[in-house]
Amino acid sequence: MEHQLHDRDRVGVQDAVLLEDFNNQDVFVDNLQKRFKEHVIYTYIGPVLISVNPYMELNIYDKKSVKEYHNKHFFEVPPHIFAITNTAYTSLKDENREQCILISGESGSGKTEASKKVLQYIAEVTDHRGEVEKCKDKLIFSNPILEAFGNAKTNRNDNSSRFGKYMDIQFNFEGNPVGGNILNYLLEKSRVISQTPGERNFHIFYQLLAGANEDELNKLDLKRSLSSYYYLSSGQQNGSSGINDEKDFKEVKKALSTLDFTENEQMDLFAIISAILHMGNIGFTEEEGVSFIAKPEMVENVSKLLNCDKNLLKQALLERTIKTNNEELTTPLNRDLSVYARDALAKAVYDRVFTWLVKKINKSLQPKDNRRNVVMGILDIYGFEIFERNSFEQLCINFCNEKLQQLFIDLTLKSEQDEYEKEGIKWQHVEYFDNKIICDLIEEKHKGLIAYMDDECLRPGDPNDITLLAKLDKYLDYHAHYISHKKADIKLQKIMGRDEFRLIHYAGAVTYNVKSFIDKNNDLLFRDLREAMIRSKNGILQSVFLESEQQSKKRPETAITQFKYSVNNLMNILKDKEPSYIRCIKPNDSKRSDVFDFELVSHQVTYLGLMENLRVRRAGFAYRRDYQRFLKRYKCLCKETWPNYHGDAKDGVTKLIAALKFTEDEYQMGKTKIFIRHPKTLFSTEDAFQL
Ligand code: ATP
Ligand code: MG
Repeated sequence: MEHQLHDRDRVGVQDAVLLEDFNNQDVFVDNLQKRFKEHVIYTYIGPVLISVNPYMELNIYDKKSVKEYHNKHFFEVPPHIFAITNTAYTSLKDENREQCILISGESGSGKTEASKKVLQYIAEVTDHRGEVEKCKDKLIFSNPILEAFGNAKTNRNDNSSRFGKYMDIQFNFEGNPVGGNILNYLLEKSRVISQTPGERNFHIFYQLLAGANEDELNKLDLKRSLSSYYYLSSGQQNGSSGINDEKDFKEVKKALSTLDFTENEQMDLFAIISAILHMGNIGFTEEEGVSFIAKPEMVENVSKLLNCDKNLLKQALLERTIKTNNEELTTPLNRDLSVYARDALAKAVYDRVFTWLVKKINKSLQPKDNRRNVVMGILDIYGFEIFERNSFEQLCINFCNEKLQQLFIDLTLKSEQDEYEKEGIKWQHVEYFDNKIICDLIEEKHKGLIAYMDDECLRPGDPNDITLLAKLDKYLDYHAHYISHKKADIKLQKIMGRDEFRLIHYAGAVTYNVKSFIDKNNDLLFRDLREAMIRSKNGILQSVFLESEQQSKKRPETAITQFKYSVNNLMNILKDKEPSYIRCIKPNDSKRSDVFDFELVSHQVTYLGLMENLRVRRAGFAYRRDYQRFLKRYKCLCKETWPNYHGDAKDGVTKLIAALKFTEDEYQMGKTKIFIRHPKTLFSTEDAFQL
């Protein structure tokens, strides 16, 4: 088998628990580097898989590789994503235990690719007939749809997921996939209206322009040239190497049909995408503080595509109606507010259409019968983010990562403890940093950051970003993990702006700039725009803009509170499942297969909390094996057990251990397994994992 070399100097060790100096991060990273240079991208920390993006096609995912991992014990084969998946799948199938595969890492580290490999493995080792095959097709084809609408080229990744995704695969009692369900989180909708230089809008806009035939283009009133559309103009204009929009569009259409989107629905969908492109081109002029539409025919175009009333839409872009208890007050907008309204509409429509897509996909993925199925969930969600400038979105993302870290601590430590208990092993509690204190700082009822933020957003008067910051500083400055400008030391004050606050996250300190916090958290769409959409005859818009929303007296929840609810809901889904962790790492910022940027990787190792993970793993018993397997592998080391030991395996191991002169604190005998503290001192390292 591949890389079963005993050449530790060249390929490093397969499991970081075998490193001699496990407290030294450089040694840990160096091990990953050695392996990366040999194109060995997978390494374990106990059961956690580390995956370093190879930035090249490796010949390790073909059918032959699937076979090599199928039904093999985790320890019998070199580290691989198939090994992790196989272990999870076996536990699901044989023991009926629900699973979740948690994939994390920063943008471009390979999370989405990893999630596809998990699905690929499952698809290949399960039944290939009838409904099961159809279900697998649907699961696989949901990817091109969601990627077309939810992914974009960024400066970090040509196919960057701009939303978080959790996908359930539902298995029947035979262990075959029969259904699925997807949850989506926080789409980066600001991308619809503008992009950083070198980046692009969501793929679907380019796919539609490149891939639609002449007839379709005519119907949608589109030109192929990207420069015709303002919403595409700030992004990259020329073709991007490696992306074939025309081909991808064909795949998306095929996928839509596979997932039961009717011709009509597809037409409605692309009409909306086209309408958004046209919407961006609506310009405004201003006279005496009042806004006018520069070319009214453009709005007519958009209303035709959206199948909505053109006058209602025009009006909604020029005026704002505020409804109080029994009065309606209409005020004209100035040019800036009209532009704001137009952009808000484009973002809201796109965001809701994305959610509609997920719902439709879920409907198609629903299992045919509603017998209870066992579930394997796959989470592909943004990792911890620390940019030069961090905003509302980073706060949400980093909060989500705090929650996932908490779950990680709970689940890994818990499962370690459970196993020790089950096996009757004495062990000392391991000290670790519990980040609950940070989760509380952010989400605690009435006195967490989110609560104060909502307070300020919903307060009458004129709340703005600066009053918000003042409130946060006032109430949270006492907290050890919150640093205001005032509290910062002189050195920090120099780099921290007066419109910033800092949180000490488990993975490091992040400075957040409060600009636009209020606006993003309110996430309001003017009432008149909603009204225009509610009255649309486009089937999709009808189902995503509801009359009830307009009637409701209650304000909708703020963006961050909605996010908090969905993250907590996700934690509830995950907490009862058996977890498998895949930690993805990006080796360099230039997408190269031959560069390992030591510092860049070190940062990620810190943010992912891998050293802590390793410490916890090492603090207990790094190596454990059931007696039979252990005896089979090492019986040759003791006269009494060689060539065969006929008695009870546990007795055999006891004899073996005595012959090997283990001291008492080096090992413990459990009910079914032997636990060894530091296998490194006992066996040649690779050997220990090649039973
Ligand atoms: P984001 O957070 O931006 O969505 P991500 O972690 O999902 O990023 P991916 O899109 O999975 O990153 O990977 C980025 C690119 O890296 C892929 O398009 C592919 O070119 C390459 N890549 C990732 N994993 C692998 C792999 N196992 N083998 C070969 N190439 C890979
Ligand atoms: Mg991704």
